[in-house]
Amino acid sequence: KLVSKKWKAKPTSVDLGDNIFIKDGEMAVITGPCSIESEEQIRAVVAHCIENDIKMMRGGVFKPRSSPYAFRGLGLEGLKLWHEIASEAGIKIVTEVMQTSQIEEMYPYVDVYQVGARNSQNFNLLDELGKVDKAVMIKRGISGTIEELLQSAEYVFSGGNEKLILCERGIRTYERASRNTLDLNAIPILKAKSHLPVIVDPSHGIGIRAYVPQMALAGVMSGADGIIYESHEVPEKAYSDGQQTLDFAQSARLAAWIRESFAMR
Ligand code: PEP
Ligand code: MN
Repeated sequence: KLVSKKWKAKPTSVDLGDNIFIKDGEMAVITGPCSIESEEQIRAVVAHCIENDIKMMRGGVFKPRSSPYAFRGLGLEGLKLWHEIASEAGIKIVTEVMQTSQIEEMYPYVDVYQVGARNSQNFNLLDELGKVDKAVMIKRGISGTIEELLQSAEYVFSGGNEKLILCERGIRTYERASRNTLDLNAIPILKAKSHLPVIVDPSHGIGIRAYVPQMALAGVMSGADGIIYESHEVPEKAYSDGQQTLDFAQSARLAAWIRESFAMR
């Protein structure tokens, strides 16, 4: 496979511009709400990122919701507004693309296209992202194996897009005490098998706010190249995933802990 270390020994460095990279040997900190909700909310998160030297912000404008009645995002208009505010602050945008028709309309406003867990094996979407000249982060499928994640990455990489990032976000197991089971094992295994950077999402991985920091740190110590977690000014009021979202004080502390842990690794 082209994404394997056997094919390419040198770690792939994903360049987002302005001297911002997701790569081996650096710790990428990505935070933001589950969903982009309003201009006020965007401004609050951007200010939080600036204060804490966080250069990449996450947020969904097209939301894959388990219920069709749940909030499904602000769409392209929300993304344009977010881009206006974030780019002025020098902050990169990580956001989910749900279908091929969105790739082109999102292109001017996105820095990393996120492929969600539910779309991890949407091979048409992966094929199309393979033709794009912009970074792609693929999340592991809800019940996806490590091998399946690597095969999904292969679709994009073999299509010509080498700006690829893998994301462990927890898998479905028999355990119901947590939302998902964060598979820390996947991190050293993915790092050994592939030259691509690996990011950990402890928010979706455990799904419980109080335990997100320790799982983030476990991810750092497992060898991850970055952490992506959900934060919001008032998590209790978040339109989605509030139960696993950190407030800004918790987020600030965690960002510092992540960097300290990485420095000790
Ligand atoms: C998200 O990042 O908010 C999200 C929907 O993640 P996942 O696809 O991992 O469930
Ligand atoms: Mn979420």
